[in-house]
Amino acid sequence: MVTTPRTSARTTTRAGRPDAVAAAAVDTARSALLEQVPAEEVGDHLAALAEGERVVTHLFACTKRGYRGWTWAVTVVRAARMRHVTINDVVLLPGEEAIIAPPWVPYKDRIAPGDLSPGDLLPVEADDPRLVPGYTAGDEIVDSDAVREVVFELGLDRPRVLSLEGRDLAAQRWYDGDQGPNSPLAQAAPGQCSSCGFLVRLAGPLSRLFGVCANGNANDDGRVVSLDHGCGAHSEVRLSKKHQPEPLPEPVLDEGSAALLETF
Ligand code: SF4
Repeated sequence: MVTTPRTSARTTTRAGRPDAVAAAAVDTARSALLEQVPAEEVGDHLAALAEGERVVTHLFACTKRGYRGWTWAVTVVRAARMRHVTINDVVLLPGEEAIIAPPWVPYKDRIAPGDLSPGDLLPVEADDPRLVPGYTAGDEIVDSDAVREVVFELGLDRPRVLSLEGRDLAAQRWYDGDQGPNSPLAQAAPGQCSSCGFLVRLAGPLSRLFGVCANGNANDDGRVVSLDHGCGAHSEVRLSKKHQPEPLPEPVLDEGSAALLETF
């Protein structure tokens, strides 16, 4: 039976001297292959590889159009004390030059920030480590009706909240991003967000490192910025004298021309 494709990684298990009877069974292997595929798609015998004790795989060139670099592989087996072989497997294997599909990447791993369009759904895994049940206190799960009741009354009854791991991941991502201290904008800034009047403070542990920029003229308006981020729209920025515009001269009234106009 022909099955495709099977990876060529199987060659790593091939070792040792092939069984003499199985290695000589080239015609048997070719006959088995020709029962499965047209003769014009089978080329020369390329090799006989030992797969294990009395197990040999015969490789034949594949001449099928569009299958450059692929190889027919027919595995034969000789049972102990037997003088003939039986066919174990017939497959088409990709070689190094074969065109094969790229490795499969799960859909959820292909989504990048900014890919979501209106109406798209991106559910998180039930055991996503970035989230913990809303009635936990950090690492310790406090799973009792009394705690749930208090949480509900306080309006903190979200089913899940950010875990410590989720919080740390977010903090690292923000700090390393364009709103962190290493962005070109921050490197050239005259002052840091921590001293800017447009910084809105956060609550909770993240407030020690981050705030929100509320300067409508700044690039980062509405974004979380690290306290050591900064930009040229800092509230205390003042232009030095050399950056200020040249003062304009006093206006001059051309009285001669004005008198001439009145004669018309
Ligand atoms: S205006 Fe600039 S310095 Fe001020 S908070 Fe926003 S990003 Fe930070």
